[in-house]
Amino acid sequence: MPNISTHLVSRFLFPLHEQIKKHSSVNVRKSMENTQWFSPEEITQLQIERLRQLLIYANTHVPYYQKLFAGLNFQPEKINVLADLQHLPFLDKPAIRANLEALKSNQARHLARFNTGGSSGEPLVFFIGKERVSHDIAAKWRATRWWGVDIGDPEIVVWGSPIELGAQDALRAVRDRLFRSKLLPAFEMSDQKVEGFLSTICEFRPKMLFGYPSALSHIAKHADKTGIIMRNLGIKVAFVTSERLYGDQRKQISDTFGCRVANGYGSRDAGFIAHECPAGGMHITAEDIIVEIVDSHGHPLPHGESGEIVVTHLASRDFPFIRYRTGDIGTLDDKVCDCGRGLPLIREIQGRSTDFVVARDGTVMHGLALIYILRDMPQIKTFKIIQESIDLTHVLIVTEGGLSQVDTGQIIALFQARLGRGVIIKIEQVSEISAEKSGKFRYVISKVAAG
Ligand SMILES: [Zn+2]
Repeated sequence: MPNISTHLVSRFLFPLHEQIKKHSSVNVRKSMENTQWFSPEEITQLQIERLRQLLIYANTHVPYYQKLFAGLNFQPEKINVLADLQHLPFLDKPAIRANLEALKSNQARHLARFNTGGSSGEPLVFFIGKERVSHDIAAKWRATRWWGVDIGDPEIVVWGSPIELGAQDALRAVRDRLFRSKLLPAFEMSDQKVEGFLSTICEFRPKMLFGYPSALSHIAKHADKTGIIMRNLGIKVAFVTSERLYGDQRKQISDTFGCRVANGYGSRDAGFIAHECPAGGMHITAEDIIVEIVDSHGHPLPHGESGEIVVTHLASRDFPFIRYRTGDIGTLDDKVCDCGRGLPLIREIQGRSTDFVVARDGTVMHGLALIYILRDMPQIKTFKIIQESIDLTHVLIVTEGGLSQVDTGQIIALFQARLGRGVIIKIEQVSEISAEKSGKFRYVISKVAAG
C-alpha cells in the first residue's frame, strides 16, 4: 500500500503539474500500462500503425521529409511492415545540424531547444515538442511503477551538470520539495562531499535512488569503507542510467543499499529507449520507439547479433527522429520476458569505449564528468580530452583570446577532483582540433577505459 502522501502526489499533484505544463503524460502512462501486456504481434501492429501515421504527418508538415520522400518516390501511406523503414536513410547528427529548421513541423508550437553533448560528446542542437516530452515522461513513470515505487515516493537523485542545476534553481527547489525528490550534485565526489551525501541519504530515508552507476557505486564504496550501514534505510530500488552498468557496480550498489538495481537506457536526443523490469528483462518502450540494429555499413542485423542502435521515435511529429543513429551498441533479443510483458527486449547495451574515463581509484565514470568542466567556460571554443594513462590526461583547447593562469589552474583542479589528486593534467592550447578519420568529432578519448 502506498502511503497517503505518495498517493496524493502520484494521483493528484503530479497530474496537476503535468496538466499545467500541457503534458498528456498521465493519459499516455495509463494507456502504456495497458499496452505493455499486448502480445509481441499486437505490439508490432501498433508500431506499424503509428509509424505510418508519423510518416504521413512528416510528408504533409515537415519540409525536410517532404523533400526527401519526393526524391525517393517514397509513399508513407503504403507502409505495412516495419522493414519498409529501410527504404529511408539514417538521420545522423550532421544531418540534423544541416537541416535544423527544415526538420521542424510547420505546425509545431512551443518547441523546447536542447543542446547536448550526447553520449559520445558530439555537440548537437535539436528540438522537442510537448507530445514527445509527455511520452518520455510517461515511459519513465511506467517503468518506475514496475518496481513498486511511484512518483512522490522520497527519492535521492545523484545527477547533474552545472548547467542543468543552475538553470531553474528556484523552481526546481519547489518542485523537488513537492515531489520529495532531493538532488545531490554527481560530479563533486571528494571524500568530504560523499560523507555529506551519506548523511543526507540517512536523514532523508529515500524509497528510491536515481543516478549514474559510477556515482552510486562510488558512494556505496565509501559507505562500506567508513562503516556506515545503509541497508536498513528502506530503499527499495536504485535506478541507474546514462552509462554502462558493470556487474560489480550492480553488486556494490545492491549490497550496500540493500536494494535491487534497475538499469535504464535512453537520452535526451534519442528518448526513453528501454528499461529493466524486476524479472531482469530490458524492455524497449516499443509503443513509442522502434529499435533497429545495424552493422558498420548500415545493414540491418537479425536478432541476437550486436550492432549500432538506431531508433525511430513515434511521438516525435514536431521534430521527427526517424532512423536516428545513437552511436551506442546493443543486441535485440527475441525471447519473451518472464514478467509476461510483450514489450521486446534489448541486451548488452554499451556506449562506445571512449565514453568513459577511469579515475585513479578505479572508478569508471562518464566522459561528461570532464566535458562539463570545459563546456562551462565561455572563453573555450572547443576541446578534446585524451586520457593517455591512469596518471596522465592531455587536454587540447582552442580558445577565444587565450587562457589565463587562473583558468588553467581551475581546469587542473577540477580535473584532479574527478580523476584523482596525483594525476598530471597537461593543457595545450592549439589553433584547431581535427575530426576523427570517420569524420565524427570526439570530445573524450580514453586509452584506459575498457570497452
Ligand atoms: Zn519483463
